[in-house]
Amino acid sequence: MTDHTRTLSLVLSLIRSGTAVTRPDLGRQTGLGRTIITQRVDHAIRVGLVAEGEPAPSTGGRPSRILRIDSGRGVVLGAVFGATHLHAAVTDLDGTVLAERRVAWDIESGPEASLATLVDVAGQLLSPELRERLWGVCVGVPGPVDFARGMPVRPPIMAGWHGFPLRDRLEAHYDVPAWVDNDANLMALGAWSRTRAAAGDNILLVKASTGIGLGLMSRGRLHRGARGAAGDLGHTIVAEESRHRCRCGKFGCLEAFAGGWALTRDARAAALEGRSPFLAERLERLERRGAPLAVTDVLDGCLAGDRVSTELVTRAGELVGGQLATLVSVFNPSTVYLAGVLAQAGDVFRDPVAEVVARRSLPLATDELVIDRVDLDRAEGVVGAATLAIDELLHPDLLDQWLRHGNPRGIRARTGDFTEPLPLDLPLAGAR
Ligand SMILES: [Zn+2]
Repeated sequence: MTDHTRTLSLVLSLIRSGTAVTRPDLGRQTGLGRTIITQRVDHAIRVGLVAEGEPAPSTGGRPSRILRIDSGRGVVLGAVFGATHLHAAVTDLDGTVLAERRVAWDIESGPEASLATLVDVAGQLLSPELRERLWGVCVGVPGPVDFARGMPVRPPIMAGWHGFPLRDRLEAHYDVPAWVDNDANLMALGAWSRTRAAAGDNILLVKASTGIGLGLMSRGRLHRGARGAAGDLGHTIVAEESRHRCRCGKFGCLEAFAGGWALTRDARAAALEGRSPFLAERLERLERRGAPLAVTDVLDGCLAGDRVSTELVTRAGELVGGQLATLVSVFNPSTVYLAGVLAQAGDVFRDPVAEVVARRSLPLATDELVIDRVDLDRAEGVVGAATLAIDELLHPDLLDQWLRHGNPRGIRARTGDFTEPLPLDLPLAGAR
C-alpha cells in the first residue's frame, strides 16, 4: 500500500463521516500540508468518488467548496439472516437504502437453499442498472463467524452451516468483494453509524430475538475478539443447576430462559395449563392452522394486558439485564441498544433490563448510561452490513487494488489478520 492510498483513504473517511468537508478542514484534521490535501481531493474528484458542492460559509479569504462522497457512483448489497427471516437492502455509498425486502426464511433450511434465496431476493432489488453499479456485498448470519475467512464456525443453531464458505460463494457469484459477519455485530455497527453523535463510540447492542446475540463497538470499531467469538451473550450461563437444555447442548444458558424460543416454550406450557386465557385462545387458533406459537404472540399478549405474557417478557428482561450488568461494569459503554423482536415489547422489556443493570453495576458506569431501543425501523442490520462493506471498500489495502480500475469488480475482499491495527488511526466512517 502506498502513502498516497493511505492518505486518500483517510481523506475519504473524513469526508464520508462529515468530520471534515472542506480542504482547509481536511488539512486541520489530518495535519497534512495543503499540497497533499489538494492532490488527494483532486484525485478523489477525478475518479468520481468525491463531488464538490456549494461554497462553505466563508471564514474570510477565498471560500472553499463543500466536499461530499459521490454516493451514486456505486451501490452495495447488505443482507441479514435471522433465525426466521431474511432482510436484504441495496444502498448507495452514503448507506441510504434504495430498495429493500424482508421475507420469512428458516435458517435451518441450510446454506445452499439460504444462499439461493438470498440471490433470488437480491435479484428482485438489483435492477440491471443497479447490478451494473454493484461494488460490494455483506451478509450477516445469526451465529459465530470467522470474519477473516468469511464463514460460520460451529454455530449452535444453523445446522449444516459450519465451515460453509459463504464469502467465497458470494464473491464468485457477484464478482465483487464480499464479507460475512455475525448479525448482532452488523446491527451494532448500523445503529452506531446512524446515531454516533448521540450514542458515543462505546456501545453495546443486545439482539433479543429467537436467540440472544450481542454486538460491541469499542472506540468506534467493531470488537470481534481474538477469534470472532466476542458477543456470545446467549450462551452464558444464568442457572448452573438448570434442567432447561439449550439449543447449544449446554444447560442453563441465558437463551434457554430468555430467548424467543424459550419464551414460546413457556407460553405454550402456560396455555396448556390454563394459566393464560389469551395464550390458550391464541394457541388453539394457531393449531387449527397447523402453525406453532411464536414469540410475536407473546408480544401481542403484552399489548393485550395478558399477565402471563407480561411476566415472561419481564423475566426475560431481568435475566438479560443481569448478564448485561456484568458487561456494563467491565466495558463501561455510553449506550446499550436493545434490538430484536423482544425489544419491540417496548418498556415491558426495557424497564427490567435497565432496572437490573442500575442495581447491579457501579454508579460511575450507570450514571449517564442510556439503555434504549434502536429506532431504525428494524433496518439496523442491513444498514450495518452496507456500512461494513463501504468501510472495507475504502480501506487503503482494498482501495489500492481497485482504484486504478475505477471500480471493485473482480477484486476479492481482504483476508488474514484483522486484529492488526489500521496503519493510520482512521476514524472509521459511519454512514453519514
Ligand atoms: Zn446455549
